[in-house]
Amino acid sequence: MPRAKLTKVCQSCKVDKVLDEYNNNLTKPDGRNGICKACQAKVDKERRNRLKSS
Ligand SMILES: [Zn+2]
Repeated sequence: MPRAKLTKVCQSCKVDKVLDEYNNNLTKPDGRNGICKACQAKVDKERRNRLKSS
């Protein structure tokens, strides 16, 4: 039996992705981040770079 695939659109890249592609975030109503793991990684990297260069 096919598993129900829950997806949502990433607020950053606007791509419809399965919830597995989003990190858990218990502060969000659906328990998942609003942006996907790939975008989150980018945000984290930029944040790190900014901290490093300041
Ligand atoms: Zn994304």
